Amino acid sequence: MNILVSACLLGIGCRYDGKAKRNEAVCALSEKHTLIPICPEQLGGRPTPRKPVEIKNGKVVESDGTEHTAEFKKGAEETLKIAKMCNCSIAILKSRSPSCGFGTIYDGTFTKNTVDGNGITSDFISKHGIKIKNEEDLDSFC
Ligand code: SF4
Repeated sequence: MNILVSACLLGIGCRYDGKAKRNEAVCALSEKHTLIPICPEQLGGRPTPRKPVEIKNGKVVESDGTEHTAEFKKGAEETLKIAKMCNCSIAILKSRSPSCGFGTIYDGTFTKNTVDGNGITSDFISKHGIKIKNEEDLDSFC
């Protein structure tokens, strides 16, 4: 099976701080599946490193209010193209991210509090039929 995966979970240093968030359980899935790394924020044109953002009132903003919603939407569209090109019907995406989070995201206050909701890419590709899991919910793959 081809599975779309947040690149930071595979050890790629694409996070806002230039670091990765390697997850061994996710990496181990490469023994049975083909993992397709994507970073929607880089695909949308954001630099690395970059200032952290959260979703507030439907907009993607830095803590000072600087908005990046357009780049995040572009990243979601590019990610969907890759999913279709690679015949991925499942994605494993980083929890709580304003791009990749699914079900729960940071609440826009930059205080680590969370709310129910989806990141921009997770929301977009799930509405186009991609099943989303996050790295903390891999039971059906293990
Ligand atoms: S956009 Fe997704 S893949 Fe890229 S660093 Fe953030 S959580 Fe990881």
